[in-house]
Amino acid sequence: MIDIQNLRVEYDSNRAAVADLSLQVQSGEFVFVIGPTGAGKSTLLKVLYRAEQVTSGSVKVDGVDVGAMDPRKVPELRRKMGVVFQDYELLPTRTVFENVAFALRVLGIGRREVRRRVPAVLEMVGMMRRCDAYPSQLSGGEQQRVAIARALVNDPPILLADEPTGNLDPDTSLVIAQILDAANKRGTTVMVATHDKLIVDELRRRVVEMAYGRKVRDEADGVYLPSGECAMAGVHEPL
Ligand code: ADP
Repeated sequence: MIDIQNLRVEYDSNRAAVADLSLQVQSGEFVFVIGPTGAGKSTLLKVLYRAEQVTSGSVKVDGVDVGAMDPRKVPELRRKMGVVFQDYELLPTRTVFENVAFALRVLGIGRREVRRRVPAVLEMVGMMRRCDAYPSQLSGGEQQRVAIARALVNDPPILLADEPTGNLDPDTSLVIAQILDAANKRGTTVMVATHDKLIVDELRRRVVEMAYGRKVRDEADGVYLPSGECAMAGVHEPL
């Protein structure tokens, strides 16, 4: 589903945000990308939906080379992915229902289909009862549930989440983690960039740890801090 080979991403020409990173993610997997702020997690996710450019190496999504992609094909790529952010990014002047419906309307999907799909996905995240509320009337956790519904309404094969629990309290973070887990169990490939130890240790899924732009650990059924030696040992030098 995702095949990354020797990826390097530079914002400034002398320093890499991601370096020498290879990673394969199979269809149906759940992957946490962890590491401290500045480790390159967000950049890694961004190259997948072409919000940042590949400097060198290759990034393939569903067999398509994202780095070499014609810019006109980017909307097609993004239809394969739902994306969730730390700050929800809901439209403040639209209701919950409209925020989710909007993701379908921009694809030209008709009213009947919108009226079928939006309640189903809002039900899935437990937000149908608040469908007429505006984002400002919701808690952070509720807003994130709506953002996840919006990301999933088009039934994309891949869900990317960038620090989805970064603004949430521990109990709410666990609820959001369970919603992401449920999406994965229905077949969506999920990649979550996070430094939230709680959700990583709760779900115990594959953990890819980054430090200074490099992959320093890739472990199935992982936890945030591996027992024994620190995975970051030996990776001190900024690139
Ligand atoms: P993380 O998500 O792990 O916090 P990021 O991918 O956001 O890490 O950042 C990785 C590195 O790239 C950091 O050193 C950061 O300062 C740098 N960086 C991120 N975005 C930009 C940008 N738009 N311009 C310049 N440098 C950036």
